[in-house]
Amino acid sequence: MRAFVPSEHARHAPTKDYSDGLPPFDHLEVPARVELLLAGAREAMLVEPVEVAHRALDEVLALHDRDYVQFLLALPDALGADAEYLPAVFRGDLSRAPLLFQGGMYCKEVGTPVGAGSIDAALSSAAAAVAAAQHALGGDDALAACRPPGHHAGRRRYGGYCFFNNAYLAARELSRAGRRCAVIDLDYHLGDGSLEFATPQAPYFSLHADPFRNYPYLDASHAAVGAHATLLTFEPGTTGAQYLARVDELLSHAVDDGRDVAVISLGFDTLGLDYVQDETTAIVATDYEAIGARVARCECPLLFVFEGGYDADNLQQCSRAFFGGFASARG
Ligand SMILES: [Zn+2]
Repeated sequence: MRAFVPSEHARHAPTKDYSDGLPPFDHLEVPARVELLLAGAREAMLVEPVEVAHRALDEVLALHDRDYVQFLLALPDALGADAEYLPAVFRGDLSRAPLLFQGGMYCKEVGTPVGAGSIDAALSSAAAAVAAAQHALGGDDALAACRPPGHHAGRRRYGGYCFFNNAYLAARELSRAGRRCAVIDLDYHLGDGSLEFATPQAPYFSLHADPFRNYPYLDASHAAVGAHATLLTFEPGTTGAQYLARVDELLSHAVDDGRDVAVISLGFDTLGLDYVQDETTAIVATDYEAIGARVARCECPLLFVFEGGYDADNLQQCSRAFFGGFASARG
């Protein structure tokens, strides 16, 4: 399987996360995550890494609002080399405010600082997703080792460690080529950004912790109204077996109606040890083997887009188990 790796992802290296509303903690969305994901996958199966050296600005402009993208592009020049930007004021319209205040109309929270290289990294991450989609058009599975992640990025909003929606950039590429795809989200969190982009050609299917009691803290029963989306939740304390049963249910909705390609938003922050959970699961690293095997039973090509997974001590093991199960079942 080819793994598309964004060449500039490490230029985004946030240091502090303020999102607990407490003294800041060391940021968990670190560059090493890509290496851990790939190391685990390579222990499990034959992986051919492909470095993606360009940035996907045109594709990002086609998916996200122009003023939003232009703000993010302008921001690094206003920062010092080591500065980390967080908005100071959050309001619906700050379009006439000085640039450094405008972020408050595009940013959702204080967990996603922007550094001088962050937006180039996000465009690089987006390019990996698009390149993987182009590869999947040929009928092969692919892995987009995206970082920063993307599923919380909406049409004109960033946050949840995400700037541009990598999964829907891939889905757009597939849709443009006439493919019917499903975006299937197995991250711990609801991808509230992905939900904004769901269409009949690329509907959204997500299994996540209760999004009212966990980030992004919204009432998804309202969010899903009128959207082309199927949203399932799991209970606090869910075990690997219970989670797998819910994955089964989600996939029966997502691919049984004959999709050409499935984009899998792959998050390993469902692991019970992951710090980002408000309500912890009982999922352990070895549980991912059965999850990978179940996903492999989808008959269409699969495009994995990396999302969450922040336990650096266990991420490689989770990835190895998942892709081991996937490779065995795929044959
Ligand atoms: Zn997540």
